[in-house]
Amino acid sequence: MKLLSTRLLTPGPTPIPDRVRLAMAEPMIHHRKPDFVAVMDETQDMLRRLFGTEQVVLPLSCSGTGAMTAAVHCLFEKGERVLVAEAGKFGERWAEIAATRGLDVATLSAPWGSAIAPERVTDALDADPSIRGVLIQLSETSTGVQHPVREIAEQTRNRDVMLVADGISSVGIAPTPMDEWGVDCLITGSQKGLMVPPGLSLLAFSARAWKRAEGVAPSCFYFNLLKEKATLLSRSQTMFTSPVSLIIGLREALRMIFEAGLPALYARQCGLTAMARAGISAMGLELFAPEHYTLGLTSVKMPEGLASSAVTKKAAELGVIMSTGQAPMKEETLRLAHMGWVDWADILAGLHALQWAVESLTGRKLSAGALDAAMAAWHESMKECRTNP
Ligand SMILES: *Cc1c(COP(=O)(O)O)cnc(C)c1O
Repeated sequence: MKLLSTRLLTPGPTPIPDRVRLAMAEPMIHHRKPDFVAVMDETQDMLRRLFGTEQVVLPLSCSGTGAMTAAVHCLFEKGERVLVAEAGKFGERWAEIAATRGLDVATLSAPWGSAIAPERVTDALDADPSIRGVLIQLSETSTGVQHPVREIAEQTRNRDVMLVADGISSVGIAPTPMDEWGVDCLITGSQKGLMVPPGLSLLAFSARAWKRAEGVAPSCFYFNLLKEKATLLSRSQTMFTSPVSLIIGLREALRMIFEAGLPALYARQCGLTAMARAGISAMGLELFAPEHYTLGLTSVKMPEGLASSAVTKKAAELGVIMSTGQAPMKEETLRLAHMGWVDWADILAGLHALQWAVESLTGRKLSAGALDAAMAAWHESMKECRTNP
């Protein structure tokens, strides 16, 4: 028997609340029968509130990357030009998906660890009126940076340019009111902020994105989002067999979220982020994204010569599971995630495990007081919170 709890402080999968696990353990129901329709209707209603949209939010049986692929297939014709905002691994993924679809890809890059400046997007759109889409992350999970999607939407919403936002590590973590901001496509996955196991993704289009999709010839049998939307609206079902248990789990997770309320959810995320940042700084380690940081995870620079994979391995001896960076920052950074069903005590465990692992591996003491600093930041943050980044 293991005598330690496992704490998943990783940017997906994230810990699953007992309520969600128990809901998913109920006997199977059939995806074409009334019991399931009731689950879908209740879930749909809560998803629209979470996404801040009057449009449908489609559940798709695939990981988040599947929804990214579906969006690119359904919104753009082969040969159309799109601008990819790229400052990390997931930005690169947009470029790969778009290129595979046969789009003409222009990339707007920024160094890993920094955000794309909105003026650069404006300039690029001014300079090239043939651009039909901007593909971006709300939160670049490989670096822990938040891109200014809200500001970019102010530009795209008045042009014939679709703003396609990968919110896989943002939805349920920071506010993403897509209709209010003017985002044309918002995507998320089940395994990050939503506290559900991996395998389900969610996608919403704006009204004008649906209009555009009607003019794009279907290029993929499985991801025919127009048909998916029609099936949802007419029957509250999905085109193919639904991931029944995951959707039941999602309904339970959304019930939990709306029992607490979105402001409380985002306030907690602010508090956890403030804790992680204060604790890491107090122990004398350097934050990788000093500005424009996201609320779901914190990237830490490793001390010279120490590989983050060694640190995550050591920390796992305490039951704390964290992530390394991602290529090319794989060994230079460590990512302590605080998304989903994570609370302040988990962050204390994470900070302690990080400090202990670094000290054990280097034989050198870091500064004392990290946990006190983290708790002070939590209490301070709960008073006044950055809920509208
Ligand atoms: C996790 C993540 C993805 C990939 O999602 P999968 O579910 O692994 O396909 C894409 N984008 C961002 C921003 C992510 O955090």
